[in-house]
Amino acid sequence: MQPLLYFDICSVPIFMIILISVYARRMTKGVSNRLFIALLILSVLSALSDIVVEAASRSLPVPEPVVILSTICGYIYFISRNASIVVYFFFVFSITGTWYRIRPKRMKAILLIPFAVILLTIASNPFTGLIFTFTAEAGYSRGPGIIIIYAICTLYALSGTIYMLLSCYRFIPKNKMFLLVSLYVLSMAAVIVQFFYRLLLVEMIATAFSMILVILFVLRPEEISDVSVGSLSFEAYRSELKKILLTGQKVHIAIINFTNAYELRSYLGEMRFQTYVAHIIRQIDIMFRRERVFFDIYYEHPGTMYIIIDDPKYDVEDAYHRLADELMRRSEKAVSAGERLNAVACDLAVPDDLNDLEEIIRFGRDLGQQVPQGRMFVNASEIIASKDYGIISNMDRILNRAIAENRFKMYYQPIYSVERGRFISAEALIRLFDDEFGFVSPGLFIPAAEKRGVILPIGDFVLEEVHRFISENDIASLGLEYIEINLSIAQCMQEELPERLTFLREMYGVPPERINLEITETTYEDMGSVMQFNLEALSGMGYTFSLDDYGTGYSNMQRVSKLPLKIIKLDKSLVDDMGSDDGMSIVRNTIKMMRDIDKELVAEGVETKENLDYLEKIGCHFIQGYYFSKPLPEDEFVMFIKEHNRIDA
Ligand code: C2E
Ligand code: MG
Ligand code: MG
Repeated sequence: MQPLLYFDICSVPIFMIILISVYARRMTKGVSNRLFIALLILSVLSALSDIVVEAASRSLPVPEPVVILSTICGYIYFISRNASIVVYFFFVFSITGTWYRIRPKRMKAILLIPFAVILLTIASNPFTGLIFTFTAEAGYSRGPGIIIIYAICTLYALSGTIYMLLSCYRFIPKNKMFLLVSLYVLSMAAVIVQFFYRLLLVEMIATAFSMILVILFVLRPEEISDVSVGSLSFEAYRSELKKILLTGQKVHIAIINFTNAYELRSYLGEMRFQTYVAHIIRQIDIMFRRERVFFDIYYEHPGTMYIIIDDPKYDVEDAYHRLADELMRRSEKAVSAGERLNAVACDLAVPDDLNDLEEIIRFGRDLGQQVPQGRMFVNASEIIASKDYGIISNMDRILNRAIAENRFKMYYQPIYSVERGRFISAEALIRLFDDEFGFVSPGLFIPAAEKRGVILPIGDFVLEEVHRFISENDIASLGLEYIEINLSIAQCMQEELPERLTFLREMYGVPPERINLEITETTYEDMGSVMQFNLEALSGMGYTFSLDDYGTGYSNMQRVSKLPLKIIKLDKSLVDDMGSDDGMSIVRNTIKMMRDIDKELVAEGVETKENLDYLEKIGCHFIQGYYFSKPLPEDEFVMFIKEHNRIDA
């Protein structure tokens, strides 16, 4: 009986096709991909040499040159076949993301000892014939020493399997794990078949099949890469984090948040924006490679980058500053000057700073909000130690508690009329005092409530409270004309908003002239059709509107003039900038332009007499700020107004 060569022959084109697909899909970077390529090349070598050896023994006696060739091929076969077992063993570590565990040279050396024994046994073969012999008369035959090789290969296979099952099962998806183990199972089965049925050469075809499974289901670049910018994807970040936390690996994560990503994207367009981000990612890649650190770059749209640096001693802050300098120099070509990505960054040590998966993810996403004004880089530990961070990371609990126990209160901040020399209105500002965290700023919980979709009940509470306040206190008798209420974007887009206000008007008998609704610049920039409708409907009913935080967004005068806005509120940041010549002329000209199109102006956040005097001089109508008063609880506010507007009891 002749050995069946067809299986071996079939396996060769399969390996070749997989190899071509690996290159065609550009899966050539990174340890896993490189090991996989090595595995394919070794498999082709073993299949080809096996074919030669087995084919040569078909007709005996074998001519002398063929004996020599076959003997050489026999060595190639045994070396490449066994090497591929070891390479696969290492592949298991890299594909499970646990390469760092065997990175130390000593560790690798230990793991290679059994392979060295195999090599020694093969090396001794010319003298001992332990592994195989090839003679002209008898052709190819295997020797008793083959058992040693089988035993050692089984050792690698078993330890690889056990490693995956015991140490990686928590972070490797079950189907992937199953497929990775399947390569071992299939190969073992083939070895057993071939051991008992010498002529059935199924080892290589079994390997080929398992390689197909690996390339189809395990090595999937589309699952882990973000091709649009040439980095790893956010999903890959999540699974890498999961693994890091479960294995207790110590890493640094450099989180870079592009604070103007939205604006820049709409300015450059999606394609050019992505090219720009890809350019930055390439620069980061070049820099870290040069410094020989182990790292991976992950990207989340529209503008957060996570660089996991696998070196607990690496100085991330220093690297970040060098990177920023480098990018400054190089990105000139990528985008026109002035249209650069602005970024804030931080260094998060895992697990030392944070050790909860969801918290780490949330931390990265909220980074823009948490980095103190004017800072470019912070250590995460600094943010985490701050009081705000405690609040932000417990926001779910705080909000649930506040809503369930109705912990909100309304405060009122007086607004002064320059022309009339007295207070003519006030802004209603919500307050929350939590038992555990104390005062929780609306600047923190309002955006959080919007994100979590619980802003509407809070907004309803505000509307009702202010109506009650106005009706119980007869504000006209206090000299107040109206109260300003902040509307959130979700409220503005609520179809029932006009009905809701009509209902409150009737219930509390508060006419629309007593209420002014504030919408922020960013709210009206995102305005949808419902909001447009609401704005017109409410204006028609007699409600007036203010544009809040003017100067923080990108409004243009033309739009401002077309919207039914009565009042423009200059943001505190503009007022604060009045110290500089430029800041001063911005405020002066804004006020002039707004007056020209018949808008009334409120300056927010006025804290000093100097600013007050100047604003009065350049024609600002109303002043709001700590200079006059902080926001006050209802009764204190009423007392304050009575006293200052000289209303006798
Ligand atoms: P805003 O509407 O721009 O409110 C003005 C903020 O500036 C208030 O902060 C006020 O206390 C503060 N402020 C006023 N004068 C000064 C000053 O002279 N110096 C300083 N440093 N600050 C001053 P607050 O109350 O913390 O509110 C922050 C933001 O939260 C508000 O900004 C508004 O966007 C939102 N918010 C507050 N109450 C409500 C509400 O009832 N509903 C909604 N949707 N948002 C609200
Ligand atoms: Mg406001
Ligand atoms: Mg404001």
